[in-house]
Amino acid sequence: MSVLSDTAALLAWVERSGALQKGHFKLASGLHASRFFRCIKLFQDPNACEALFVELACRFQAQSPDVVMGANEAGSILAFELARRLGAEVAIARQSQDEQRYRLIEGFELVPGARVLVVDDITTTGGTAKQLVEIVRQANGIPVGVGLVATKGIFAIDLGCPTEVLLELQGMDAVDPQDCPLCQQGIPLSG
Ligand SMILES: [Zn+2]
Repeated sequence: MSVLSDTAALLAWVERSGALQKGHFKLASGLHASRFFRCIKLFQDPNACEALFVELACRFQAQSPDVVMGANEAGSILAFELARRLGAEVAIARQSQDEQRYRLIEGFELVPGARVLVVDDITTTGGTAKQLVEIVRQANGIPVGVGLVATKGIFAIDLGCPTEVLLELQGMDAVDPQDCPLCQQGIPLSG
């Protein structure tokens, strides 16, 4: 039976894996949260992830992407695994420490007209995926979709192209640091 045969089974697997962590986290969006989805933890067991990769790839087969683009550690693994299954190439982006902007790692490039599928592990506000879609547009590529392992379902996200999400996590939070109850209690940020 596929782990993705129903959402409850997928969620149970995610919880069993320890990928859903509790603490005091600073998210990529700059917001603070008491729960964190460390998707990379799922990828420790590549065989267990097989169904996840297949499912996400299937949802974009019809778009025939030429390139699958991801960012950071989890996004790179997703991009590689989906590109392999879709017969596409890979492009990896990284956030520069000072600029807080994503750009393609040197050696990767997009040709004009390339059909690009953007992938990411989880999004709170859609910020990273939006920046990746923007990289595609600036290179005169065609963003054909965005595939996400999870969202938190707390912000409406419009990425301007077809978006597929495998899992909407419940009970996630994200607040402005100024309003963060954990900051107010003086709890240090988790690693
Ligand atoms: Zn905080």
